[in-house]
Amino acid sequence: MITNIRRVTEIRYAQIRSLDLSNGEGVGVALFVQGCHFHCENCFNPETWDFDGGKEWTEEVKNKFLELANKSYIKRISILGGEPLAKENLDDVLDLVNEFRLSKSEKSIWLYTGYTWEEIRKNNMKDGLRYGELTKRAKIITECDVLVDGQYIESQRDLSLPYRGSSNQRLIDVQQSLQKGEIVLWQA
Ligand code: SF4
Repeated sequence: MITNIRRVTEIRYAQIRSLDLSNGEGVGVALFVQGCHFHCENCFNPETWDFDGGKEWTEEVKNKFLELANKSYIKRISILGGEPLAKENLDDVLDLVNEFRLSKSEKSIWLYTGYTWEEIRKNNMKDGLRYGELTKRAKIITECDVLVDGQYIESQRDLSLPYRGSSNQRLIDVQQSLQKGEIVLWQA
């Protein structure tokens, strides 16, 4: 019973990478959240699938993450997984992006999700989210600069593409896309 309460309000995480060069432009700090429902074939991080795996995300860990992100040479944070937009992870991912924005608005937020932009914008993810959870998901997206969308698809694997694993995944300029009401791809 206690475990269930914790999972609604507090994420677990698989890893924090303090010098991340592969999941976004420039040098970043990457948070790999724990838990993913997609189970893509040949996922790079299957150890992140179990929502009860990984380590506990505490205030102390969050503050350490924000401290790392505050270093002068850090250009962005990246949030990936696992699935940052899974309903189990929404509360604390939203809390993190809000805190990051309050303190370091000049740095970027990259977020990787198995959902597509269209699914997110139409609230059409068929995963039983309630209104409040959909609102949280929308708020998280609003704070992001780049969204890498879509599941990893093995048959479309292309490791020559920057910052993603398969060619269906897009690097979306979130702020431009929201402003124009259509997908605008991110340009370096
Ligand atoms: S969405 Fe990402 S973490 Fe989840 S199974 Fe697919 S590749 Fe793995």
